[in-house]
Formats: sequence, C-alpha cells, structure tokens
Amino acid sequence: MATARALLGRGVGRVRLVEKEAAVAQHQSTHNSGVLHAGLQYRPGSQKARLARLGIRAMTEFCREHGVAHEVCGKLVVATSHDQLPRLEEMLTRGLRNGLQGLRRLDPEEAREVEPHVRCVGAILVPEEGIADFAGVCHVLEAELASAGGEVVTGAEVVELVREGSQWRLVTAAGDFESKVIVNCAGLHSDRITRMAGSRPPCRIIPFRGEYYRLRREREHLVRHLIYPLPEPGFPFLGVHFTRRVTGGIDAGPNAVMAFAREGYDLATVNLRDIVDAGSYSGLWRFAFRHTHMVARELAQSVDRHRFVAALRNLVPEVSDDDLRPGSSGVRAQAVLPNGDFVHDFLWVEAPGAVHVLNAPSPAATASLVIGDEIAVRALGHLAA
Ligand SMILES: Cc1cc2nc3c(=O)[nH]c(=O)nc-3n(C[C@H](O)[C@H](O)[C@H](O)COP(=O)(O)OP(=O)(O)OC[C@H]3O[C@@H](n4cnc5c(N)ncnc54)[C@H](O)[C@@H]3O)c2cc1C
Repeated sequence: MATARALLGRGVGRVRLVEKEAAVAQHQSTHNSGVLHAGLQYRPGSQKARLARLGIRAMTEFCREHGVAHEVCGKLVVATSHDQLPRLEEMLTRGLRNGLQGLRRLDPEEAREVEPHVRCVGAILVPEEGIADFAGVCHVLEAELASAGGEVVTGAEVVELVREGSQWRLVTAAGDFESKVIVNCAGLHSDRITRMAGSRPPCRIIPFRGEYYRLRREREHLVRHLIYPLPEPGFPFLGVHFTRRVTGGIDAGPNAVMAFAREGYDLATVNLRDIVDAGSYSGLWRFAFRHTHMVARELAQSVDRHRFVAALRNLVPEVSDDDLRPGSSGVRAQAVLPNGDFVHDFLWVEAPGAVHVLNAPSPAATASLVIGDEIAVRALGHLAA
C-alpha cells in the first residue's frame, strides 16, 4: 500500500492493488510488535540502516498528521551480563554512525530510573523510538489510495502471471487484470509470485512464527515502555522483549519457530505444500545444522513456557509464570539463501516490467513509507521503458 501510495504521489495515473484476503493488511503488517525502530543495530551503510532512519521520521510524521495512535516513548536496550558490554558499546557506536539522535548510554541505576524493574549491567536509551498502530496506518493508506484515484481489489489472489508482449495479464480469483508493470509485495508468498512471473528468486521464504504472551493487567506496572535485550549477532530478530501496545497492554515475545504453514499462526495450522517447500530446501537444512543450538532453544521456548519466562526474567526478574497469558502471534517471511544464510537486508529483484520485493523484514513496518517510495522509483523506471 505504501508503494501504491508513492506511485500515485509520483504521478502514475492508474494504480491497482490486488490483495488475496477479504481485507488488506491481514498478515505481517498487522501481526507484529508494533514498534517504531530507528535502526540502532543495523550495519552502517546498509539499506536497512538508511531506510530505518528515514523511515521512522516519515512514519512518526504520518501518524501525527493523520491522527494514527502512536507514542514516541523511547526504548531501553539492555546488557544483562558483563560479557555483553562490548556488544552494547558497539551498538551505541553503530547507532551514532547511523545518525540516531539523543542516544544515551546508561548505567544500571540510570536504567532503573527509566524502567524501575529492569535488571541489567548497562543500557542504551533510544529516545526516538516508540510504538504505533500499524493497522491504523494501513487503514489510512487504504483510504488515501481510494481518494487519490487508486483501486484496491480484495479477494483477488494472484494465481497466474502471463507476459503478453510488453504487458502483464494477472489472473486472479477476482478476474483478470492487465498491467504494464507489476510490483510484487506478497510478503510470505513473494518468492512464489517471483517464480510465477518467470524469474528465479535467489532465496526461499521460510515462515517463522513468533509467539507472544501478554502480561496480566495487575502486573503491567513492571514495564513502562519497551525493554529489549541485545540482539544476537546474525539474528537481529531473536530475543524476546517487552512491548507496550499503543492499543493497551504489555506483550512479551516473540520467539521464532518454523511454522508448518506460511500463514501458520498457531501450531494446529498445517499446509502440506508449505511444508514440502520448506523441507525440500537445502538452504533450510544448512541453516538448521549450522545453528542447532539456536533452533533447539527457540523450539524449547515454544513448547515449554518456563523457558520462555526464564528468558523474560533475564530482563525483568519479577516476572513470573503466573503473570503471563497466551497472546497473539505473527509469521515472519524470512528469506533464506541456498547456503543457509538468512537475508537480513531488504532484497528486491527486477525483471522487464516487474519489481519483486523478496525481503522486507523488520523494520519494514516502520520504514514502509520510504521503502514504498524506493520501490516506486524502481517501478517508474519500468513504466518509462
Ligand atoms: C512477529 C513480527 C514482529 C515484527 N515486529 C516489527 C516491528 O515491531 N516493527 C517493524 O517495523 N516491523 C516489524 N515486523 C516486520 C514488519 O511487520 C514486516 O516487515 C512488514 O509488515 C512487511 O510488510 P509487507 O507488506 O511486505 O508484507 P505483508 O504485510 O505480509 O503483506 C503481504 C500481502 O500480500 C498478500 N498476498 C500474498 N500472496 C498474494 C497473492 N498471491 N495474491 C494477492 N495478494 C497476496 C497478503 O495477503 C498480504 O496482505 C515484524 C514482523 C513480524 C512477523
């Protein structure tokens, strides 16, 4: 939707968004942590670092302008043991190099002034970050598209893409559509759409479910805003954290376990095609063999609630098993390379008349408006060709 908005904003006359669900934004964009990330830990110079920095400013401004619920409440990133301190310092350096403003290195007492129940040996306060109602953002975008002359067609799963001369014919559940350029932002299905359009995706999407717990209302005082552990090197999305929701309540999580379906929001949702797709991919096995410890730990946290709680108690020791209720979940579209590496940066592939967005990981909700604009610029190149 952000891409469609940018295309209309850049003067493209006819933009049609085809969505397979009965309503827009039913997947990653509304099943996430709801956090506005500024790009503290990303490698300086990466697309992610640049887009996160620009993206958080654009998103905060958008929410302010359109009355979407959000709060720039700041985030505390904590080191829980002395051996983590060098990584904390490195993160601070990265944050400064990435242009984040107002960063503060805190000692444990200063950290407890911000979050009185946190346990740490050191922390970074990221004042620019916060929380936002991304579902609200999507509703505003949908309304904006309609008023700018765009069209949103729901219930229109794309099942075939046919190249006819310099045009595309999209065969969808809601009928056929023609287009000079297609932009594939299909998230959990983006690799399949790429293949459908005759291009070879350099990666496969492996679905990873993230499960959240919710803090009991009477215990919400344990967390004021956002408390994050240091991200694991190589796995920036790992590490359960505490997140205050802009709509109320405190969530704890998510973990990351392979889902049995690309839209497998719970254990019971199984899709044979998705399992075969993932199970037959050598990249997944290479990843699993290389990181058995991590895979086992995340699995254990998923099936054994005590382990999940133990990870949370690392950050806030007063949290107990009894304080948590099962919460929501989300499924991450993780792009995995054939050698088993995860793709961490944004990844798009272009072919004549097509732009395929193959990896739009966190912070892609925060940075969606500027990412949409980058994609639109690429799509415009194809339109002019
Ligand atoms: C657990 C979790 C926590 C996260 N936390 C954060 C966070 O705190 N902050 C942040 O900035 N980011 C976060 N993210 C990342 C962020 O949510 C995603 O990067 C972003 O939402 C991706 O948006 P998207 O439009 O690419 O994908 P999606 O929102 O998944 O949209 C893809 C759309 O394509 C449609 N589609 C798929 N196949 C077809 C087809 N064949 N035909 C028609 N339509 C189709 C789908 O129905 C869907 O609507 C998180 C993600 C997860 C999973």
